[in-house]
Amino acid sequence: MPGISLEIRRKCKICGKVFLVKKLDSQYCSAKCSKIAYKRKCDAEKKETRLQKIASQVPKIREYISIKEAVAIFGVERDSVYRLVRSGKVNSVNLGKRLIRINRKDMVALLPTRKKIRKEREKPLPKLYSLEPEDCYTISEVCKKYLINDSTVWAHVRKYSIPSRQIGNYVYVPKEDIDNLYKSDIL
Ligand SMILES: [Zn+2]
Repeated sequence: MPGISLEIRRKCKICGKVFLVKKLDSQYCSAKCSKIAYKRKCDAEKKETRLQKIASQVPKIREYISIKEAVAIFGVERDSVYRLVRSGKVNSVNLGKRLIRINRKDMVALLPTRKKIRKEREKPLPKLYSLEPEDCYTISEVCKKYLINDSTVWAHVRKYSIPSRQIGNYVYVPKEDIDNLYKSDIL
């Protein structure tokens, strides 16, 4: 079925408006929302760098750390740190107004450090594919289901590195990936 174009609607991740995607991987409805998303990403990276710097400057042997340092080391919000202190789960000493120092070992016992969280996040997840026919569509099934022509499907399979498997005259692609690709965020 050539010539039938693909109409995918997605919810903008910034403003929540539903929009017609022009490119399969667009996440935002407009240049304005893309810009906002980009700025948020930059701000988050800047914040992360700043906190990393604070965390790296705390000597490892220091037994008591400030709230600010705890926020940097453990990747939690100030309020959470105060809550832990108030609940008595973390020992603290008060050196004066705004000079509360909290016990680092108590924090370590309760929370993973930001460094650890980051390492976990950066680990690539192994993706398991099932290419058994029952977990797959044939290319023509994809065309039928999503009303697109096979050259478009092939272009997407290549662009998004979707695995495929040929059995006899049929090429199979995983249902899950195809559904994610064409259905994601569609209302
Ligand atoms: Zn938007």
